[in-house]
This record gives sequence, structure tokens and C-alpha cells, in this order.
Amino acid sequence: MPRFFIKDADIGNTDTVTITGEDARHISFSLRMRVGDSITLCDFYNYEYDCTIKSIDGERVVLSVDDKHPSQNEPDVKVSIYQALPKSSKLELIIQKCVELGVFEIIPVLSSRCISRPDEKSSEKKTKRYNAISEEAAKQSGRGIIPKVCETVSFRNAIDRMKQSDIAFMCYEQEDTDGGNDLKSFLNKKIDDNIKSISFFVGPEGGISEEEVKYAKDCGVSCVSLGKRILRTETAPLCVLSCIMYETENMK
Ligand code: SAH
Repeated sequence: MPRFFIKDADIGNTDTVTITGEDARHISFSLRMRVGDSITLCDFYNYEYDCTIKSIDGERVVLSVDDKHPSQNEPDVKVSIYQALPKSSKLELIIQKCVELGVFEIIPVLSSRCISRPDEKSSEKKTKRYNAISEEAAKQSGRGIIPKVCETVSFRNAIDRMKQSDIAFMCYEQEDTDGGNDLKSFLNKKIDDNIKSISFFVGPEGGISEEEVKYAKDCGVSCVSLGKRILRTETAPLCVLSCIMYETENMK
């Protein structure tokens, strides 16, 4: 069934909704929908509305709202990715792919070995652009929410925030692969039905410093290995997020 995002202000508590502009033209001319056809509206806040077309004229589509229910497309675990700022436009790729894979939010982090160090002004502009990429990916992939890309935070700030999740870990390239701290063993030990939020940190191209590892461990954030091969900073979050979705049965 065709699915459209709308601003919640447009839907309110009424039982009819009018769609105008580009979406109306798309419904009328590209999809060639007719009176009586069904459409799903999604309000960005994880609610979906089952609707029926009551009238349609190319510029305006009037719908009756038949039912409202939470989106069934959202994972039942909220995954927050703390991503050290990578070089060039890699963060854009990470955002797009992680939104498709079901991330809840992405928090860019300035860690000691980050090469990219944006000033405040360009950072603000970039955050806007990152959120636009998230919105586009959320629409394309049929998400029930638009995952937020937050302002860049410091490494310590990131670790302090991560601790609030039910599970928090740091992907550390030098972690011993034989010590039971590989991703699969770690997730299998930690995941159960009560786990609602998971946070993980991925370092930049230059990796994570020993001081950062010590700080994270002292704060109770475990270090986890992704195996013997070193993944690029843009590969690691996609890999870990996929594994989490798989292990928490959110790929069904
Ligand atoms: N320059 C470093 C690699 C950095 S890879 C080196 O040569 O050792 C970028 C980030 O991806 C790492 O900081 C880590 O967070 C994650 N990562 C990549 N491969 C990993 C692995 N095998 N285990 C755990 N984390 C890994």
C-alpha cells in the first residue's frame, strides 16, 4: 500500500486529511489512484494511519482516516550509534545506510584521533544536512520515525551518555578476539527480552587511543572485538548494527 509521511499538524484529531502539493500530484498522476483506494500515512512519530481516498483532483486528495496504530516497521530496540567523525563525506554514507538498517539515533563524536575537526558554523550546517539525509533514507526505507542526527559531542560526553543505555560497548580494534569479548559472545551474554536500548561507539580512521579505552572501561563501557580483520570506520557501524538487528530478531 502506498505510504506517505505527513506532518502531525496536518492530521491532528480529525477524521479527514487533505494532501496537497507534490504528494497530491504523485498520488493522482504517477500512482493513478482513485476514490476508494487505500493509503497509509505516517506521522514521523511512529504512528500510521490507514486511510481511504474520498476525493481526488490532482491538486488535492481528501482522505478519511479509518484507523491509527503504531508503525510495525520499527525495531523493538533503540540503537544509538556514537560515531567518531570520519574524513570527507563518509558520515553521510553511514547515516543513509544505518537509517535503512534501523538505527534510532546517530551521535557524531570528536575523539582524539579524528582528522576532521569542523568549526561551529560548518558543524551546524552539516547537522542540518545530515538530518535531511536521514529523512530521505527514512522515507525511502519505510521507517516509522526519522532517526535524529545529533550535534557533535566530545568523547567523554559520548561515554557518559552511552552509559544510560541498557547495553553500551565500544568497538575496539585491539580487543583480544579470544577473550569472549567478540561481538557475538558479547551480545549473546547481554541480550534478553528486557533490553530496550543499545549504544555503541566506533572510532575514526586512526582508531581509539589507550586513554580513551581506559576512560570507557572505567565508566563501565565494555570493549568488543569485531574479529581479526580491521574494518574501515564506515564499515564497522553497518556491520555492528546489522548484527544487533539480527540477534534481537528485528530482521523479520
Ligand atoms: N587505524 C586502526 C583501525 C581503525 S578502524 C588500526 O589500524 O588498527 C576504525 C574503527 O572501526 C575502530 O576504532 C573500531 O571502533 C572499529 N573497528 C574496525 N575493525 C574492528 C575490529 N576488528 N574490532 C573492533 N573494532 C573494529
